Amino acid sequence: MGQETRFTITPHPSPVAADERAVLLENPGFGRVFTDHMVTVKWTSDKGWHDAQVGARRPFQLDPAAAVLHYAQEIFEGMKAYRLADGSVTLFRPDENARRFNESAARMAMPDVPEELFLAAIESLVEIDRGWIPGGEGSLYLRPFMFASEPFLGVRPASEYIFCVIACPVGAYFKGGAKPVTLWVSDDYTRAAPGGTGAAKCGGNYAASLVAQAEASRHGCDQVVFLDAAEHRWVEELGGMNIFFAMDDGSLVTPPLGTILPGITRKSLITLARDAGIVVQEQPYSFDQWQADAASGRLREAFACGTAAVVAAIGEVRHAGGSFLIGDGGTGPLTTRLREELVGIQRGTLADTRGWLR
Ligand code: PMP
Repeated sequence: MGQETRFTITPHPSPVAADERAVLLENPGFGRVFTDHMVTVKWTSDKGWHDAQVGARRPFQLDPAAAVLHYAQEIFEGMKAYRLADGSVTLFRPDENARRFNESAARMAMPDVPEELFLAAIESLVEIDRGWIPGGEGSLYLRPFMFASEPFLGVRPASEYIFCVIACPVGAYFKGGAKPVTLWVSDDYTRAAPGGTGAAKCGGNYAASLVAQAEASRHGCDQVVFLDAAEHRWVEELGGMNIFFAMDDGSLVTPPLGTILPGITRKSLITLARDAGIVVQEQPYSFDQWQADAASGRLREAFACGTAAVVAAIGEVRHAGGSFLIGDGGTGPLTTRLREELVGIQRGTLADTRGWLR
């Protein structure tokens, strides 16, 4: 498929009546309510990308030998479309998702999805399903993904793939809304090793994180914190979010890229903070230091960030040896300020001086 990226569009009248949809949109939760359509594009080693379709959301027909079902050759993205006060619809830095998608694809030996194809797919779906975008605090979560569909059991990169985009209206991510979150530091499990797939958004990373997340839930925590695999000493990230520490000298510390997912929220917050004159250090930070700094008061605030929750204060940290609070366990001023600034840009109430909205 060349430059023009043509989609065959087959509108599918909504099976959900308008009044029923309005009820669903009031409290959609996360990831259970889906829109009417999906985008699919096929890739084969002989034809490249072809057969781009926008049509009814429906199950795939997959051969039981499809490579993804055996060797997990799969990647995905997560991003949101927001409805602004004036009724217009906007995406936040979708080009960054396109870039990260292709970095994940390269790591998993999958074909590159041209940025214009990725963006056209997203925009076509948002356009046809715009009636599903909640107003207010809600948004439309978009899930682009690609998987190996070739029926072949040999262990090698597949020669057939499907790129797909689905969407779901979402409300607040954490059950308590913007309340501070409680974290569980995993002793038993790590997420990513040097040379592994930590920087890629591949399904396998999340499969491997589930028992750790379940352990966190058992301890009454919202999210798991992973330490590095080599020394089990350095804080890396959460199950689905990056992490920042705010120090008493006004600076921010966040773990460096490498084995963590390069979050687009993380990158945006670094820019916002640096533009505001805040020193941001991307440097290793140990769990021991974290405990010591929380106890001494050198650590003033800590927050988690990602597309789903944007910015969430970290109130309490639990681990096998006990627990500690960050500050008074509430949401600190820098966390609030950065959250308001980023949410303001995303929601169009603050000026988008960096061209982040599309
Ligand atoms: N880390 C992990 C493991 C994640 O799954 C996510 C969510 N994509 C993030 C960090 C945050 O990334 P982003 O800000 O791009 O949503």
